[in-house]
Amino acid sequence: MSDIASNITTIKAQLPAGVRLVAVSKYHPIERLQQAYDAGQRIFGENRVQELASKTPQMPDDVEWHLIGHLQTNKARLAVQHATVIQSIDSLRLLRLVDKEAARIGRTIQVMLQLHVAQEETKSGFTPDELLEAANSGELDGLTNVTITGLMAMATNTDDMTQVEREFATVQQVFETLKSTAFAGSPAFAEVSMGMSDDWSIAVRHGSTLVRIGTAIFGPREY
Ligand SMILES: *Cc1c(COP(=O)(O)O)cnc(C)c1O
Repeated sequence: MSDIASNITTIKAQLPAGVRLVAVSKYHPIERLQQAYDAGQRIFGENRVQELASKTPQMPDDVEWHLIGHLQTNKARLAVQHATVIQSIDSLRLLRLVDKEAARIGRTIQVMLQLHVAQEETKSGFTPDELLEAANSGELDGLTNVTITGLMAMATNTDDMTQVEREFATVQQVFETLKSTAFAGSPAFAEVSMGMSDDWSIAVRHGSTLVRIGTAIFGPREY
């Protein structure tokens, strides 16, 4: 077995039922994605639209592609053409634009709303209050070509695991609140994407259904 295959097997063996693995393949060449595919991996995550667009035609059709990095509005069209799921919707403006671009090409695209819970200012997303307010005031309604499937979040990059845990707990709480209020009638709203190589087991304890793991599968990235 390749290292990649054995890493995937090891991680999957530890994931509870109902938690899916997104193999974060950014900066890695296609041969390495193909090794993951051959080991049974079908969900891949990329954080740059151009890289996503160049990789999709090189991989089999049954791959599910998740865009997980900040999406600039001028790349929304390309993202809608290539992504299966856009996890990184970080503003209402982007949400509406993605809806419009999806309508333009006659598809419905799955999206997730990115929650900002980390302390780093560089990370983007809605604050919990902004998102709850937007949901309660109907600003997430009226979209025709996006299906909002859940929330995505990143914890602060810190060794302080109690802080990471607190942040994931906040995401879980916001998800549960939305699920019982604004999204009570939307069974599609079911996913919480959180947890990376160093913190995924904490994320899973707090209700993650999609862990996004790069380094622990593919090794270090070469930028
Ligand atoms: C790169 C990236 C990951 C994966 O990080 P690793 O530490 O390599 O597992 C997960 N989520 C997002 C949004 C990323 O950009």
